[in-house]
Amino acid sequence: MKPVNFDYARPSEVASAIRYLAQDGVSAKIIAGGQSLGPMLNMRLVQPDLIVDITAIEELRSVQDRSDAIVIGACVSHSDIEDRRVPDVTRGAMASVASGIAYRAVRNRGTIGGSLTHADPSADWISILAALGADVTLNGSGGSRTIAVENYMVGALEADIAQSELLVSITVPKLSASARWGYYKSCRKTGEFAHAIGAFLTDPDRGVSRAVIGATETRPFVMTDAAALIGDGRNPERVFDQDAVGRLCESLGMTDPIDRQTHVVALRRAIERAH
Ligand SMILES: Cc1cc2nc3c(=O)[nH]c(=O)nc-3n(C[C@H](O)[C@H](O)[C@H](O)COP(=O)(O)OP(=O)(O)OC[C@H]3O[C@@H](n4cnc5c(N)ncnc54)[C@H](O)[C@@H]3O)c2cc1C
Repeated sequence: MKPVNFDYARPSEVASAIRYLAQDGVSAKIIAGGQSLGPMLNMRLVQPDLIVDITAIEELRSVQDRSDAIVIGACVSHSDIEDRRVPDVTRGAMASVASGIAYRAVRNRGTIGGSLTHADPSADWISILAALGADVTLNGSGGSRTIAVENYMVGALEADIAQSELLVSITVPKLSASARWGYYKSCRKTGEFAHAIGAFLTDPDRGVSRAVIGATETRPFVMTDAAALIGDGRNPERVFDQDAVGRLCESLGMTDPIDRQTHVVALRRAIERAH
């Protein structure tokens, strides 16, 4: 199938993009890398009147290095992060996860903001950025707001974004030298979407201990104080209580034992691979 006819705009500023999105009576859709939206248009799962292409907005491709965090524009691509054109403040976590997303052709075009907004539970950025404690910033006709990554995704394929809003940036805290992270994606072939994701971060100098069970049927489950589960990060594999995590998964609605076990093992492997 082919998309329905639509108008097309390619603004060069965020304010101009917001004006397009906020027009009364026009169903507008943003396109960034087009890797998820393209197929949805072709299958007519979305039928917008207007496509707003945000790839000419320089601000959305920029990166700001702050003292405690890095602010990554929404249109930075997976391969920009994989190739470390974005300074690494996560002790290699983001570059490593980026390299496992799909295939190079997808990574060249797909963007971090597009991935988060598409809100596929099996996608990689939502889980690792939730583990890293990142925030997203949205601009819209009503102003700007910043929320935690895990709250941005409200359910499968559903993000907390209004029609007139645009995701502009992702703020990722800098890890301290003592931080350790782990990520494990269970999938049959490299480059596929995950069946289960485990992610964790322990950063004792900042008092941070987070764990994520991702690729569930909905948004990832984020433990913001995972010290009991992973200890102080020095020997987390010794502390990890597989049965407790299994019970946790069950309480999250994972009734299928194989699915549950896949998620438990994903988190255990993330912890075993701690850097
Ligand atoms: C074959 C294939 C394999 C893949 N495998 C994986 C994988 O293993 N792991 C993984 O994580 N992902 C995977 N993906 C998805 C890929 O990472 C996409 O890049 C991503 O899902 C969407 O990013 P995009 O920039 O292409 O967004 P688009 O397709 O352009 O847009 C996606 C959605 O986000 C909205 N949007 C985009 N940018 C913004 C913004 N700044 N503000 C507000 N709304 C916005 C669009 O309106 C649309 O609704 C795969 C994709 C393909 C085609």
